[in-house]
Amino acid sequence: MAVKRKKIGAAGRFGAGYGKVKERLVAVESIQRKKQVCIFCGGRAKREAKGIWNCLKCGKRFAAGTFYLNAKS
Ligand SMILES: [Zn+2]
Repeated sequence: MAVKRKKIGAAGRFGAGYGKVKERLVAVESIQRKKQVCIFCGGRAKREAKGIWNCLKCGKRFAAGTFYLNAKS
C-alpha cells in the first residue's frame, strides 16, 4: 500500500507535516534537476545564486528565473 506516498517524492526527507508545501517543493525541485539550458548558446547553465545563471559553455552570466530556467520566458 504505497498509495499515499506517491506525490511527495524527494520531499519525503522532511518527514510528516507541511503537506501542501511539500507538494510545491517537489514541483520546483523536479524541474531543477533537469538540464538548464543557456538562452544564448543552448549549452548547460548552472544556477549561481537566486536568479543568476552562469553558462558552462559560453561563460555568460545572466539573470533569469529564480529556481530554474523557464523555456517560455
Ligand atoms: Zn551559453
